[in-house]
Amino acid sequence: MKQGCILLACLIGFYYSKSQSFVEERKIVFPDIPGYWTLKCDFHIHTVFSDGNVWPLIRVEEAARDGLDAISLTEHIEYQPHLEDMPHRDRNRAYQLAAEYAKPYNIIVVNGSEITRDMPPGHANAIFLQDVNKLLLEDSIEVYREAKRQGAFIFWNHPDWPAQRGDAIATLTDLHRYLISEGLLNGIEVVNDLTFSDEALQIALDQNLTIMGTSDIHGLVDWQYEIASGGHRPINLVFATEKSEASIKEALENRRTVAWYRNLLIGRDEFLIPLIQASLSVESASHIGPSAVAEVRIRNHSDATYILNNSSPFTMRTSGDVLTLKPNGTTTLFVKTLEQKASFDLTFEVLNALNAPGSHPEIEIQVEVD
Ligand code: ZN
Repeated sequence: MKQGCILLACLIGFYYSKSQSFVEERKIVFPDIPGYWTLKCDFHIHTVFSDGNVWPLIRVEEAARDGLDAISLTEHIEYQPHLEDMPHRDRNRAYQLAAEYAKPYNIIVVNGSEITRDMPPGHANAIFLQDVNKLLLEDSIEVYREAKRQGAFIFWNHPDWPAQRGDAIATLTDLHRYLISEGLLNGIEVVNDLTFSDEALQIALDQNLTIMGTSDIHGLVDWQYEIASGGHRPINLVFATEKSEASIKEALENRRTVAWYRNLLIGRDEFLIPLIQASLSVESASHIGPSAVAEVRIRNHSDATYILNNSSPFTMRTSGDVLTLKPNGTTTLFVKTLEQKASFDLTFEVLNALNAPGSHPEIEIQVEVD
């Protein structure tokens, strides 16, 4: 009997520690970059307060499991399919419930809403709102103006959505150009849920808009992104001077973002390159005996699997030019340095990162030989 109890306790302990380690491993990890904190954010989320399928508290728990720093529940203003079953007068309610519940998790919840109109302008999220109820206005432009009066940051959602744009090619209209010129449209989703848009990325670069990547989750994050099989939700990395609502807003307004989607990092070189550089460091480097082959151990401090195309003057001894650096681990490269060197530079094109449609950033890793 006693032995049985011990065995049971051991089994419970084993499963508990296993599930605990899964919870820890699941947290999304990216390093800070020089001068900024790298905050993990998702600013497009739905609950039963519009057309989502879960209560707001579940969204906070999902965010905690993913290790997020900030979220926004962005319920459709004009589309409330559960209203008959769940009448509610206050459009800030989802936010209030989540913000209160999120306090012990140290997750920032910002008040937001999805302005849900036909194209143009299509759908847009306004975040950092004071009172969503005041956005119940007929005229589209007036809604944007009211959001701006409240100090919102506004971004264009899924501009490539086939229901509104049959060819799935994100395209600016005169109305979008007007909104941008008036400061009423500040960002654009390059990533939404399970989709990525090259054309939206080009619009962001041409119009000087913030690059956004969001989940737009309606069901469960675990199911939609197959977390148990190693998937991850799309997020925005926001480079902020501190972890606060004001600092996140300032970072978004100054376009300091990278989107992370299906292992692809999308952003401007200005932030993408420091992020990749901070993710990778040389753990050790030494020549093998008297040979001119250097064994270089590179540590990847992030959740991204880096796929690098070698553009150095050196070739590799155990691989071709395309190298894979596993996440949160160390990968050993054997570099043929032609002669023994005290130091040398490796250069790579980062294939799992985009700084423009079809264009990958270049990084340099300086290697000091022991
Ligand atoms: Zn949405």
